[in-house]
This record gives sequence, C-alpha cells and structure tokens, in this order.
Amino acid sequence: MAKKQFKTESKKLLDMMINSIYTHKEIFLRELLSNASDAVDKLYYLSLTDGGVSLSKDSLEIRISVDKDKRLLAVEDNGIGMTKDELENNLGTIAKSGSFDFKNDGENKEDVDIIGQFGVGFYSAFMVSDNISVLSRAYGSDEAYEWRSSGVDGYTVVPAQKDGCGTVITLHIKEDEGEEKYSEFLDKYRLRALVKKYSDYLRYPIKMEMEKSVPKEGKEGEYETVNELETLNSMIPIWKKQPSECTEEEYQGFYREKFFDYEPPLKVIHSKFEGLTSCDILLFIPKRPPFDYYTKDFEKGLSLYSSGVLITDKCAELLPDYFSFVRGVADSSDLSLNISRETLQQDAQLKGIAKNIERKIKNELASLLENDREKYEQFFKAFGIQLKYGVYSDYGMHKDTLKDLIMFVSSAEKKYVTLKEYVSRMKEGQKSIYYAVGESADKADMLPQTEAVKESGCEVLLLSDDVDEFALRVLGGYDEKEFVNVCDSSLDLLSDEEKKDLEAENKQYEDMFKCMKEALGDSVHIVRFTRSLKNHPVCLTSEGEVSLGMEKVLEKMPENGANPVKAQTVLEINESHPISQKLRELYGSDREKLADYAKVLYAQARLIGGMSVDDPTEFSKLVCDMIS
Ligand code: ADP
Repeated sequence: MAKKQFKTESKKLLDMMINSIYTHKEIFLRELLSNASDAVDKLYYLSLTDGGVSLSKDSLEIRISVDKDKRLLAVEDNGIGMTKDELENNLGTIAKSGSFDFKNDGENKEDVDIIGQFGVGFYSAFMVSDNISVLSRAYGSDEAYEWRSSGVDGYTVVPAQKDGCGTVITLHIKEDEGEEKYSEFLDKYRLRALVKKYSDYLRYPIKMEMEKSVPKEGKEGEYETVNELETLNSMIPIWKKQPSECTEEEYQGFYREKFFDYEPPLKVIHSKFEGLTSCDILLFIPKRPPFDYYTKDFEKGLSLYSSGVLITDKCAELLPDYFSFVRGVADSSDLSLNISRETLQQDAQLKGIAKNIERKIKNELASLLENDREKYEQFFKAFGIQLKYGVYSDYGMHKDTLKDLIMFVSSAEKKYVTLKEYVSRMKEGQKSIYYAVGESADKADMLPQTEAVKESGCEVLLLSDDVDEFALRVLGGYDEKEFVNVCDSSLDLLSDEEKKDLEAENKQYEDMFKCMKEALGDSVHIVRFTRSLKNHPVCLTSEGEVSLGMEKVLEKMPENGANPVKAQTVLEINESHPISQKLRELYGSDREKLADYAKVLYAQARLIGGMSVDDPTEFSKLVCDMIS
C-alpha cells in the first residue's frame, strides 16, 4: 500500500524527534497522556451538553500497558476518538497549536533544551519509538482505522477493528544503542514515576497493571504475586489543592506544560473565592510577553473549568485588557456546564468571577510593588505599557484601578517612580507634576525645557512610550496635582516681576515676531521671547490641548490622515542669547535675512525637540549660506 507523505513542516519536526535532539525524551509520555485526557474531556463535555449522549464519568479512563518481550508500550483512552480524516489531518500535519520555531537545526544544545519544554505533541513519541500505530474509533461511528508510521518516509491509514470509541496508541520502543537507552520506557516502575512527575493532576484515572505481592489465601506466612490494576495519578488538579500543599516546582511544571513557556513565571497567584460564585484560580504572570503579545493575533483569556471539566480554553471575559498578559485557570463548580460556550458571555456569574479576578490581580501587583520592587520593575518593563493603555482606554474608566500601578522614569535618578512617590517628594511650593516627552527617557531629559525645570529644583517624569502622555491626560492629575508638560507654553518658572518684564519686551518686538511668523507660515502659531532657557537658543512649546508629543503620535495613526490634529506651536527664543540681539539687528536692517533666520531657528527647535525638519534641503542650504 502506497505511503502518504507528511507535510513539510511536520517532516522537519519528525526528523528532529527521530534523531532525538531533546535531552528529556521522557516527555513523550506526558504528551500522549495529555492528548488522551483531552480526548476523554471532549467526550465527557459532549455527554453533559448533548442529551443524546449517555455516559458515566466513572467509566472514563486512560490505560497504560507494556509488553516487554515485544518491546511494546500502549496508551489507550476511551475518549472521543478520531475519524479516518481526523487521523490524517491531525497526525499527518503538525498541530495548529504547536508554536514551533524551525530555525533550530538541532546543533545548538542550549536552544534544543528550550524547545524541549514546549508542547511538541504526538510526534515526540518518535523520540523513543521506531514504529507507531494509532488505532482509533470516533464517537458515534462504527468504523475504526489504524494509522501507522515508522518515520519520515510517510504513513498509512487502513480500516481496522476496535470495540468502543477511543484511541490506542502503540509504540514499538527503540532498541538500546550505546549511550542511548530506551528500555526504561518498558519498565513499569519507571513509567509510574513519570506519570506522577508529569501527569499527576490529569482528571481521569491513568491505570496500569502492577505486580503486587499478597498473602496467599489459606496459607499463613506465604505470599503470591498477582496483577492488580492501579491508578497512578492523584487526579487532583493543581489549582484545586491548597496553596500550602503545592511546591514551586509543581507550579512551574504545570505552567510550562500548559502555557509552553520555557521560562518560569514571574509570579504565581493561587487563590480561592467563596461567596455567590465560588471559584479556584491559579494565575501566572509571565516573565516576558509571548512573541505575539503586542500583535493582533494575541488572544487573551483564562482556561475556564467547571468542577475540573474544561469548558473553554480561552475565556476572554475573565480578564480585562489591561491584565491580558495573565495566564491561568479558573474553576468554578457553580457554573452550569449546560450553558453553551456562546451564551457564557452574558453570564452574570462569569462577570462576578471576572471582577474577583481583576481585584485579585490588582492587589497582588500592588503588593509586589510594595514588597519586591526589583521584581515589580521587571514586570513593569514587560507589561507596563499595557497598564498605561488601560488607564487611557474606555475613557479612563479604569484609571482608579491602575493609577498606583503605573510608573515613569524620573529625571532624579533615572529610575522608575510611581506617581505617589513623585508627589511625596515634591519640593515645597511645587504645585504641578512635571513631565517631558521624548523618543527615549534620555532624549526627554535632554530637552532644554527639562533642564530648566530641573534647575528650578523639581523632578521631571521622562515619558517615552506613545501612550504615556495620553494616559496622563486621561488621569487629569494625581492627588490634586495637575500634570504639566515642560513643553507647554504656559509653563511658568518666573517670578511675577520677571513675567512683567518679559511681557513688555515681547510687546515691544511684536512686529518683528510677526515678520518671523509670516516667514514660517502655518507651521507656528506664534513667535516670542522666553526667559526659561538658560544657554539654549530656541525651543518649541505648544498652546492648548494638543502637545507636540501628542501631535507626533497622532500623525502616525492612519485614521488621522485627512484632517490631522495639530498642536499650536510656539517658537520661543531665548531673550538673553546672542541670537536674539542678532534678530533685533536684522529686523532693523534686513527683513529678508530675518525670514531666513526664522526658518533656521525653527528647524533647529524641531531638531532639539526630537522632530524632523520639514524641508531638510532648504535648511541645509540656508545654513551653508550663513556659514559661508
Ligand atoms: P496538540 O495536542 O498540541 O494539538 P498533537 O500533535 O499532540 O498536538 O496532536 C494533534 C491532534 O491529534 C490533537 O489536537 C487531537 O485533535 C488529535 N489527537 C491526538 N491524540 C489523540 C487521542 N488520543 N484521541 C483523540 N484525538 C487525538
């Protein structure tokens, strides 16, 4: 019979498996058992939601059996089974869920270990086996099929006989070869230990016949060996255990296995809610965002169980967007399984659970911030941007939840500070919380206006994420202190007397500024002198609601295309800088040159503010004319 070929990607994975690049070959058993448990779950779920299926939960089980002489190891389940098509589609191609990176060619041992931690699925059986048979009968069908393969050269699917629905996977275990030992996978005690290690919490009994020594009937003091079916796993899902009974290792193992992360989680949250709807939760905050976290493909959600039965793998309603990085499990015995997966959305019980989960995550983060600053900062580097989006989104509906969890880099030590910390160390008489916006914290720190505010003895928050300033706007203020952009034209660091002086001076040169403004057209709203710049010649500030930083962010948004929102830009010239004297002279002698100077100064101010020059060619020409 002609062999069918595996899909290309599957072939590569298969190749890696056959050549056993993983150090932990034993994980194959975990993979087969977890597939078996999923298959049983699916059938059980069907029986609860479809009146036509009658089934007793007690009959559901997984069996392991061994034939040492023939070197056979079998894993059998009485779950949902697979049709002929499913055998081909599921086992002939790599599973859609496998997030597998094929860059790895197996040469680099370290990387290999990392991959070894991912769920590699069914194919991992080829690490220990040179011939695999999958005999399966789908629920509701009276036909059975057998899928068989001995590796990369392909597979066959033929009709077969099988009683009852479910799947039997039989591995022919490879012969030992020098250093490479496989016979351990035919040793029942070793297998039992592996089940305990990896699959203890699976919800269905994993049974195996074990030899037992029992007293011989009627013969005192004599023993005989009998085979007895033993259940190897405790079946208590880890989230149903008391936190005090769980070890760090168990949590990490569960996390790795379920969420395919090769790094241990940053934080584990294990808790139970009582009340109207009781619920066990086991949540994890990852160390790093998954590779697709900041893309549209990312789906948030927790696995939702009802009394240990999986209802849905990604219940999005259980997590607000700003905590979408959290992974984990929620299990409530009060939820009815019969509600369809669609109507879950409207379920009030679910909303109650979600509220509890949100509160719990918030409190855990707050306590992490208080008790383990280093870890919190690590967390914030990975996911802080999500919290800031949370402040901004939904018209600020969640700002009170989040305002004490967000941090910004401060000019004081170039370290993260919370708003509370900032306010607590404001200098006497300081009324506002100052911030500067730049491409990076360092760039924001370099702004002339930042320097001026720092000089006045105040700390400046250095904002560099697009969302930052929008989040602050939505917050409006903190502890009755208002947020002030150091590039806002109303920034006020002068004494009343100085202000009066400056006003008079600006009045005096009104016409000169008008000339300059004319040369610059719509790019600027107004030109004037400032006294806040120390040694810097010029800067840009803005008047009104939209800041220059916001303008920059908004420019990038496609929906902003036709009618871009613009800042009202003010070109400020340092009144005590020699350039202002030069301008005054030109105003009296050479208006054309004054216009050129205005253009050059405006371009410089843009550069200083971290923006590009509108017309670089003209700018370069003007500068050259001036130098030569
Ligand atoms: P994954 O479990 O990540 O989806 P696998 O390669 O382990 O990837 O399995 C591929 C698919 O084959 C599974 O998603 C499932 O649909 C099917 N499958 C595997 N083992 C069984 C089984 N024992 N019973 C029913 N279906 C199974």
